[in-house]
Amino acid sequence: MQEIYFDNAATTQVLPEVAEMARKMMCEEYGNPSALYGRGLAAERAVKQAREQVAALIGAQPQEIIFTSGATESNNMAMRGAMKIRTRRGKHMVISALEHQSVIQTVRAMLELGYDFDLIPVETSGRINPGVVQNMMRPDTVFASIMLVNNEVGTVQPIADLRRAIDAKRSQVLLHVDASQALGKIPINVSELGVDFLTGSGHKLHAPKGVGFVYVRQGLRIPPFINGGGQEGGLRSGTENTPGICALGLAARLAQTQMEERYQQVKQVHDTFLQGLKGLDGWHINGRAAERLPHILSIAFDGVKSEVLLHMLEEQGIYVSAGAACSAHKDTLSHVLRAMRMRRNLIEGTLRFSFSHLNTTQEAELAAQAVCRSVQDLRGII
Ligand code: PMP
Repeated sequence: MQEIYFDNAATTQVLPEVAEMARKMMCEEYGNPSALYGRGLAAERAVKQAREQVAALIGAQPQEIIFTSGATESNNMAMRGAMKIRTRRGKHMVISALEHQSVIQTVRAMLELGYDFDLIPVETSGRINPGVVQNMMRPDTVFASIMLVNNEVGTVQPIADLRRAIDAKRSQVLLHVDASQALGKIPINVSELGVDFLTGSGHKLHAPKGVGFVYVRQGLRIPPFINGGGQEGGLRSGTENTPGICALGLAARLAQTQMEERYQQVKQVHDTFLQGLKGLDGWHINGRAAERLPHILSIAFDGVKSEVLLHMLEEQGIYVSAGAACSAHKDTLSHVLRAMRMRRNLIEGTLRFSFSHLNTTQEAELAAQAVCRSVQDLRGII
């Protein structure tokens, strides 16, 4: 049976050359970057190159990149660090209703430390209105967290406009952007976006799991997140994960050089899949087309329970998600779809299809046929 992997927002396949880079760093260039002999220096050089490659992908300086274990850690580090350096100015933050659990739960933990927050509402289209954010600014607001591309519906936020709106009311608000689902898919420039912190994860970008980074704008002096030997500019100690870091660096470079052709491939897969669903009625896409990337397609099917459909597709070798992978095990309705004010029955009938450039239009045709058949079967039973 041909397997079709349409869950690339959950994680991606590591590219062969990226895996080879990780192998090389484990088996050949395995020195500790802090060691003073040749093998250590070679590892240090490789990490330096990876830092440059990641920086280049987002228009940053290499010294502004701190490697971490992934976007969860990066989000924790950015948020806790930002609030600590602004404590004297205020303890209020705003985060969008679309954020990933790694942001939401960090805020929740910070409430116990005396911090306060408000949730930025989202329009039914999946977009955040800059005017709304502007009006939410209080004299004690010091931090805002707004993701670039949402992991459930693929909507892109107008970060530069949001920055301007915030500045118009309150300067000195630190802006954190979770770019995990945007990285390598659309051009990102931290200066043009006006962000102070930007986070990403290797495994969404065809690099391994367990490696990510946080961009910390030069001049911002956040306290160490992990104390120890002083690696990563003293912010995140611990012997560097050289296989992961160098794999991430290469994956970043490949994503940058192939961005346009990968995007076109994903767009074709997305368009072919939608074309294949034309014969089926009773479904709609969550999130307005103008705001969405083609990489993520969230579809609500009338009269269908998404979990049942998910397992029917799985039996046919097609792997998709019923929501964010990290909340899939929890018996709760998606907070993102609820924030977009979708009705309960539609949320319960929503599946997420997420594509990468490794997918083909032939896979899209086959998957669309399987979805049509399965949805019709399920509706027939009810
Ligand atoms: N932010 C977003 C938007 C994500 O999609 C994810 C991965 N589900 C994360 C953060 C967390 O990334 P990681 O699992 O690498 O910590």
